[in-house]
Amino acid sequence: MSEVEVPESHPRYESLLTRHRIEAGVEKGITSKQGLIAQGRGEAFDYLLGEETTDSADAAERVAAAHLLLADHPVLSINGNVAALCPGEMVDLADAVDADVEVNLFNRTDERMRAIVDHLRDHGADEVKGLEADGRIPGLDHERAKVDADGIGDADVVLVPLEDGDRAEALAEMGKTELVIDLNPLSRSARTATVPIVDNIIRAVPNVTAHARELRGASREELEDIVAAFDREAALADAERAIREGGDD
Ligand code: ATP
Ligand code: MG
Repeated sequence: MSEVEVPESHPRYESLLTRHRIEAGVEKGITSKQGLIAQGRGEAFDYLLGEETTDSADAAERVAAAHLLLADHPVLSINGNVAALCPGEMVDLADAVDADVEVNLFNRTDERMRAIVDHLRDHGADEVKGLEADGRIPGLDHERAKVDADGIGDADVVLVPLEDGDRAEALAEMGKTELVIDLNPLSRSARTATVPIVDNIIRAVPNVTAHARELRGASREELEDIVAAFDREAALADAERAIREGGDD
């Protein structure tokens, strides 16, 4: 049984399923109403990309996997949209690269924090960070600066899907390696990332996990070569070209 009353053969099945998940997230108190708007914005870009992972995005996803495997302390940041769209997939990725998961909200309320932590536990997470909030990201106002000191505060590599531009910039200023998943290659979040991944989070996260599993046997040197060969400006330009010209070649 599908989770939405739409036949899988429907040409917009994936997109409708995604909308349904976001809607359910709002009903469960996991996703904010602002999250609905962010979703709509993302969908427009995805439509123009042909709703497919471009070769360039796939390459960035492999680089992100290499960064996560090389990290001393990788952390995956989870907001209300991420929790609604791919909670189990985020937990799988955390397992594959031995990362922490931390809930990190733009519109932080205790209620929503707790609902997301519970939701992630229901999807197999043992430990979920974010509730301590005993660390701060310098340069942001009080509520939006909150992180766990032993989570994002201590991380050397952070995966921040759908992060807001301000916080992405502030995290980059802290010297963290930032892996950003965002369908808009012009967004500040994508532009400040060490590795911008211009792809739908629904496709991107399982693909980063697949790359991580495949790279698990690789040496440090091989992983470092993959990281060093990445050109972030070229990745952003490829994504923008694909959107303007309509999908991959
Ligand atoms: P800026 O980064 O330019 O400051 P913003 O972060 O304020 O803009 P929002 O609309 O809050 O803009 O951000 C939502 C972002 O998340 C958009 O760039 C949108 O493309 C992206 N997005 C939404 N849904 C998805 C998704 N499913 N997968 C990947 N990216 C998505
Ligand atoms: Mg943004």
